[in-house]
Amino acid sequence: MDAELSRRYLHAMGVPVWRLRNATADTEEPPAAPPPTLQGDTMASESAAPSEIGVEPPPQAASDIHPDNEIAGMDWDRLSVAVSACRACEQLCATRTQTVFGVGNRQAELMIVGEAPGADEDRQGEPFVGRAGQLLNLMLAAIGLAREQVFIANILKCRPPQNRDPRPEEALCCTPYLMRQITLVQPRVLLSVGRISAQKLLATDSPIGRLRGRWFEFGPDGTPLTVTYHPAYLLRSPEQKAKAWQDLIKVAHRLRETA
Ligand code: URA
Repeated sequence: MDAELSRRYLHAMGVPVWRLRNATADTEEPPAAPPPTLQGDTMASESAAPSEIGVEPPPQAASDIHPDNEIAGMDWDRLSVAVSACRACEQLCATRTQTVFGVGNRQAELMIVGEAPGADEDRQGEPFVGRAGQLLNLMLAAIGLAREQVFIANILKCRPPQNRDPRPEEALCCTPYLMRQITLVQPRVLLSVGRISAQKLLATDSPIGRLRGRWFEFGPDGTPLTVTYHPAYLLRSPEQKAKAWQDLIKVAHRLRETA
């Protein structure tokens, strides 16, 4: 992931970002210590300007539509209205049936973050309702949790056409909504499912095989976050289910430890 995009993700997530002393564009103070979620390589070329690294700024970030960091102060009702009215990504809002806000217990101990709605989710307005969702429900049941007990959201609130990967600028536009959801839920544990979710949340390009099975501290509150394989991937590669099971056991232990 290039440094400028990485910086913007971290900024949108409320994670302090290191800047070179002579960088001119930003006035953020360097933190006392690097945030634990930062991967060294993501910050390597921090001083490069967007034009030098070929990145177009997002046309209209959600935070531009809601000035003064309004999203960060929204309650559930206002947030839900803001998401359903969002038109930050031209292509996504032209092709979506509806936005997919997220579902579940708003005081959940476990919050799950997937990638983006697929066709079923776009139709029904609820995350993880297709085949992958059914497997997710089984995975949760395996550690004694009903779907209704957790909160489920995605990096993107709109379905990308043909289920293509979310574009960096789309993920960036949607991040403030997800961050607000995480802050409102205040889960004890975050479970990121799939490569895209993990790479966006952790602002890294590391492969999922290197991210799963570990604990990270996420966001300003240092919420414990772990990564596992996406249920859609597990449907295609059932031989990986044993590893996903190990990941879930760790989640269950962590929830019990912090109870
Ligand atoms: N895959 C995801 O990542 N999220 C959904 O909501 C559905 C499928």
